[in-house]
Amino acid sequence: MIRIGQAGIPLSCKGRTNKDGLIYTKQILDLNALEIQFVRGLYIMEDEEAQFISNYSVENDVELHVHAPYYINLAGTSDEIDMSIEKIMYSARIANKIGAKTVVIHPGYYGKESERKTMKKIVKNTKKIIGIFKKEKIKTKLGIETMGKQKVFGSLEEIIEICQNVKGVIPVIGLGHIHARLNGALKKREDFEDVFEKLKPLRLKHFLLHITGVMYENGNEYYHIPIKKGDMPLAPLIEIILDKNLDVTFISESPLLEHDAVYIRLQVEKAIMKRTGKEEADYRDLSEIL
Ligand SMILES: [Zn+2]
Repeated sequence: MIRIGQAGIPLSCKGRTNKDGLIYTKQILDLNALEIQFVRGLYIMEDEEAQFISNYSVENDVELHVHAPYYINLAGTSDEIDMSIEKIMYSARIANKIGAKTVVIHPGYYGKESERKTMKKIVKNTKKIIGIFKKEKIKTKLGIETMGKQKVFGSLEEIIEICQNVKGVIPVIGLGHIHARLNGALKKREDFEDVFEKLKPLRLKHFLLHITGVMYENGNEYYHIPIKKGDMPLAPLIEIILDKNLDVTFISESPLLEHDAVYIRLQVEKAIMKRTGKEEADYRDLSEIL
């Protein structure tokens, strides 16, 4: 199964609430995933809107994810950690209420600590969060994202290590970030295969992929750019997904948001048509190529 959507309310959507964004994603864009962004400070979502979003997404088969506020540091001072956990739990409770599959977080910073010490701290605090999830019966999964800068905790290996140490945590595979952090490492099929190979021990049944073009230098991401302006190709990634029939969700994090989500869709459908020899394809229907 392939799902495609964007991170946040589509740019071309006149209404600026999450409810508007969800309806637009389904009705106008005909996409089937949305990652709601709680990234500019704490977001308030009234019960009524949450209820609507929950019902609408089920009835219209739009998979939901939630992104917690960006500034989180599970390796910081005890005040920073408390504040981070508070932000994560705030996002997680709403995510659970609307039936989101994942609440995405950025893990934290090395600061003056060594990589190992940072890892220990983050694992410890992630366990604490999972404990609260259990206590509150939160079904949404905690997803930790790979990060695109050297001084920020979150290489692919580090994220995998947390997932191996804390049950119930999943990796959010920010391919643009991985590409930037390794200074442009994702170009060929083997490069993407290597990513899935590394993830293998986690036995994931579903992959949440964040996709964007990135401007980077010396292993550091500067900013996101449109997919077509970046140097990370989609085609080899799509080939692997189709060959292995992977269950994936593509979330476009590009500055063009939904335009690049639709671009991903076109690339997927082009790849399907290449296989079927037909002139039409629907990214939701892989029955003819499996
Ligand atoms: Zn993120």
